[in-house]
Amino acid sequence: MKIFYTCEYCNEPIDTLEVDQVDEAKFGFDCLTAQERQDIIKIDAAQNAMYVKSLCDSCIAAMGLEDTIGLGMTTANKSYIH
Ligand SMILES: [Zn+2]
Repeated sequence: MKIFYTCEYCNEPIDTLEVDQVDEAKFGFDCLTAQERQDIIKIDAAQNAMYVKSLCDSCIAAMGLEDTIGLGMTTANKSYIH
């Protein structure tokens, strides 16, 4: 089965894995609730593929710095307006 990781935020493909069998514990899926699994994991049996929503490094970085960037932008915009 092929596992496709896609960024939930920007839809960029992150990684593709090919596995004989999905070891849920290894992938951390056993920690998810049934609802989370439904939201995050989509299985396409016909394609023998599994699609997993995740976040890419740049989006994680962007979110982590969101407040800082937001404040910087606001200040910059204000100085342009005035
Ligand atoms: Zn992303």
